[in-house]
Amino acid sequence: MAVYSHSRLSTFEQCPRKYKFRYVERFDIGDRQSVEGYLGHCVHKSLDRLYELLMAGKIWSEEELLSHYDKLWDEDKPDELYIKDEVLTEGDYRRKGRDMLSGYYSMYHPFDQDKTVALEKNVVVDLDEEGLYRVQGYIDRLAVKPDGTIQIHDYKTGQSMMNQQWLDDDRQLAFYQIGAKEMWPDRDKFELVWHYLAVPEKRVSTRTDKDLQELIDSTIQLIREIEQARVDDNFPTNETKLCAWCEYHSFCPAKIHPSSLEGKNEEEISHDAVVGWVNRIAEIKKYIYELQNEESALKARIADFARSNGFDVVSGTEANARIQFGERYIPKFTEMESEKESERKKFIDFLIRTGMVDEVFSYHPGSFDSFIKKAKYNPEFKDELFEHVKLIEKAPVVRVTKKRG
Ligand code: SF4
Repeated sequence: MAVYSHSRLSTFEQCPRKYKFRYVERFDIGDRQSVEGYLGHCVHKSLDRLYELLMAGKIWSEEELLSHYDKLWDEDKPDELYIKDEVLTEGDYRRKGRDMLSGYYSMYHPFDQDKTVALEKNVVVDLDEEGLYRVQGYIDRLAVKPDGTIQIHDYKTGQSMMNQQWLDDDRQLAFYQIGAKEMWPDRDKFELVWHYLAVPEKRVSTRTDKDLQELIDSTIQLIREIEQARVDDNFPTNETKLCAWCEYHSFCPAKIHPSSLEGKNEEEISHDAVVGWVNRIAEIKKYIYELQNEESALKARIADFARSNGFDVVSGTEANARIQFGERYIPKFTEMESEKESERKKFIDFLIRTGMVDEVFSYHPGSFDSFIKKAKYNPEFKDELFEHVKLIEKAPVVRVTKKRG
């Protein structure tokens, strides 16, 4: 019987076909590292090192933590870092990770709220006595509070902060609690702790023995469904809004346009032919990716040329390139290195005082600017808000269109 993880179970629940692509066929889509994933990797590893040294009796200064993060960012960086957001640069994300670590450091220094007992702890949970149904995962940090409560810490580097209901229903950390209970059978107080580093804010939830037993029962049931789907080779597609983020979108039967089957009866299409189509699409995607990289590099050079010559249109033989320069608002603390910390505190205090924390931080970093420009707020709030933001130059947008006539 396979060992399941929280993400494996969630993938099946979201879409059985996606599960088949990923875990049964192990479809190689030549995954590119996203900049968000890379930021998460560097932040997690930096916090890991911070606590590792703390366990050995050394407290890092904030500067040491940040310089470790900077070093990691340069050393571990993959050849290709995929940035979906056109407005943000790698430097923006790198700075964002630094801000997360600074925020965390200010909240918890000198880190004496609890005693860390394990980092990146691998937990394998037997859901039944025979060990037929197993779930595994990694706990970011396991700690014991002075009153003996066992805490399971999880770091989140994404933008969205989940509400309490979501946290109270979360399966992943509850699995870890089952594992932690096996390590400390005599303890009865456990806390699940999420650190939303972008805010920064901490959220806590607890589980009763009854909650955990219900989780075990429902998970065994879900694993049985997955195993049955394998036996029957029954992994139907489940189209939802999440398809837009699915990495198998181009290969998914639910998404292949009917015109690609032109005049053919589906029964007559051989499996080999379909495999050939899929392979060809994979080649095309790779080629498109290379072309897109070349396009981005050329656009950057055109923008530099236009800026230094004061042009907003540059003509080619058959097409024109229009270059749009602009500005965007960002919170001051993401730019002002020297006064960053006090500026961050002032900004957060201001948002708390005006009850706007959720409103502002629910925005993706790329749309913070839209919030500032479009939101309708009262004049007093606006005046004070503008003391905490600054305008910086946006990455130029270059649009190439065919000449008319
Ligand atoms: S594109 Fe949608 S339906 Fe297709 S595999 Fe992905 S999640 Fe499932």
